[in-house]
Amino acid sequence: NQSLHSLDPEVAAAVDAELHRQQSTLEMIASENFAPVAVLEAQGSVLTNKYAEGYPGRRYYGGCEHVDVVEQLAIDRIKALFGAEHANVQPHSGAQANAAAMFALIQPGDTILGLDLAHGGHLTHGMKINFSGKLYNVVAYHVDAESNLVDMAEVERLAKEHRPKLIVAGWSAYPRQLDFAEFRRIADEVGALLMVDMAHFAGLVAAGLHPSPVPYADVVTTTTHKTLGGPRGGVILCKAEYAKKINSAVFPGQQGGPLEHVIAAKAVSFKVAASEEFKDRQRRTLEGAKILAERLTQPDAVEAGVSVLSGGTDVHLVLVDLRKSELDGQQAEDRLHAVGITVNRNAVPFDPRPPMVTSGLRIGAPALATRGFQAEDFREVADIIAEALKPSFDDAKAAELSARVSALAAKHPLYPEL
Ligand code: PLP
Repeated sequence: NQSLHSLDPEVAAAVDAELHRQQSTLEMIASENFAPVAVLEAQGSVLTNKYAEGYPGRRYYGGCEHVDVVEQLAIDRIKALFGAEHANVQPHSGAQANAAAMFALIQPGDTILGLDLAHGGHLTHGMKINFSGKLYNVVAYHVDAESNLVDMAEVERLAKEHRPKLIVAGWSAYPRQLDFAEFRRIADEVGALLMVDMAHFAGLVAAGLHPSPVPYADVVTTTTHKTLGGPRGGVILCKAEYAKKINSAVFPGQQGGPLEHVIAAKAVSFKVAASEEFKDRQRRTLEGAKILAERLTQPDAVEAGVSVLSGGTDVHLVLVDLRKSELDGQQAEDRLHAVGITVNRNAVPFDPRPPMVTSGLRIGAPALATRGFQAEDFREVADIIAEALKPSFDDAKAAELSARVSALAAKHPLYPEL
């Protein structure tokens, strides 16, 4: 039983290098976060050895008495966190949670209505070569070209025209809140079920800083690793009447043995998510995103061809619109990478550039808020980003901005205990 470093120095070196990358750069990918050490510990535990097909108290394997405790804690905690009637904490990922939810609620060939991927939706909401696009008849709704807000009049019109069995609300790249009550009204009007994928904003909901979809949706899915700040994974919440169907769609419908080490880590993160510290972190996340949006709408940013979709943000991310900039999404992502800030390029709605290049950036505040960033730190990082996106950017500027990034990273050490 050798340590990782002695058994496999090649893997160990890559892990060490990744830790150093996370510590020394500023992580602003909107879907990422830093899990607490206790979460890493649970996920790296001996629970990885255990088979536990089935559910707590009803397993197909012996020796499940301890993983039963862990899985029940995860279930009870997330039900309490979101006020849900039922929870399944076994989905290995957000995509698998969505697959199982659809598997439980509708039949292949049924029509689903989801937000277009190019307008901020997720692959699993009906993209052509995803399971959702292959199994179901997909109709996509969009954002309005002027406001960049989800066009609820179009949602209603398409719902009445196509009579979907399932309406999917939720997004991967959208800076505003959705109107869940309005989605519910439209779903009821056409006899559709409503599924909300809150993967991105679940942490904000848990902190009471974003409306909850739970009272409105038949089923709510989420990932556990974005704003929620836990291990990589998925969860399904639903009304009691769908509990059996959801459980059997996850196992045996989609998956075999649950990842009890990940479920233990989920349980720990749900405990954290109920704390005051977590609420404060989500408050700073929202504040950070707002500071960034404000900085990128100042006159010097506008002059550089930079703007912010919908003019601001109500959530943890900002969508930067580069359609008027000489920089495309790829070049802007590379520039920020060069000064030590990690973001992802992202298509903007009606993007004239191809999907591998794009005319946008998606920039999120969750990971920096977890790192302890306060308003003044977010003001500094917002200014660094605005400076990096100017036409005057050159090697000297890059060196100056890199030094400012390093100073922020040093001010808020990440994982000092590692
Ligand atoms: N749903 C939404 C809205 C997402 O943004 C994502 C991830 O980006 C997923 C689901 C899928 O999660 P995972 O990558 O864990 O499969």
